[in-house]
Amino acid sequence: MGAALPQADPAAVSGLATGPAMAATTEQAYENLCVAAAACDRCPGMAGRLRLLSAANGRPGARVMFVAEAPGRLGGDRTGVPLSGDRSGARFDRLLAAAGWERHDVFVTNAVLCNPRSPDGRRNRPPSSTELRSCADLLSRQIAVVGPLVVAPLGAVALAAVARCHPHHLVLRADVGRPAPWGDRWLVPLYHPGDRAQIQRREPQQADDFRARRAFVDALVGAADREARGRPRTGDPLPGP
Ligand code: SF4
Repeated sequence: MGAALPQADPAAVSGLATGPAMAATTEQAYENLCVAAAACDRCPGMAGRLRLLSAANGRPGARVMFVAEAPGRLGGDRTGVPLSGDRSGARFDRLLAAAGWERHDVFVTNAVLCNPRSPDGRRNRPPSSTELRSCADLLSRQIAVVGPLVVAPLGAVALAAVARCHPHHLVLRADVGRPAPWGDRWLVPLYHPGDRAQIQRREPQQADDFRARRAFVDALVGAADREARGRPRTGDPLPGP
């Protein structure tokens, strides 16, 4: 807990990384990370599970990264795409659409890259604290390579998981939807799109959260792009905390 968050390339974060060389470097770094994840065997309970990190997670360089809890048995572990193929995935797609985002606009990952299951293999189970701790390094490296302006943990487990990458003091219920400076990025806690979270935050409210975050990300990106062109305007929000 509390390890330093790997620093993203400032040019990539601010939107300056438009040159082919930088793009190739980022793409290569992401490919290397996917290879490292595929070979990971740190969690004995994850033997035989998919390591859910590939081009299907999204685009390195995406301005917003969503972090869910873990791939689902009938969801990401089956489809190879995070938050897809089950009820949580369907709701997540509706929430993205409510904000005017498409999958290729964002990067989606999980606090643990493998699907935790009950001993009989028939049910999902929550990731253990050991598994979350073991996967924290891969999560930190994803944040560093993808270089988002905004990281949005989905649910309390993901919010606690990102604190292993870089400390924060946010509490989901109190801080939902509220952007907080987090290292050289912003952290925005949101509820998970799964059925359980509907008790706390129903879908229409979650859609409002996503729409508000879209406006926030657009403001950050606009300011970063203007700064990259050397034309910051008085009153523009800063591209980073
Ligand atoms: S959950 Fe993460 S740390 Fe554990 S085996 Fe899968 S990739 Fe490795």
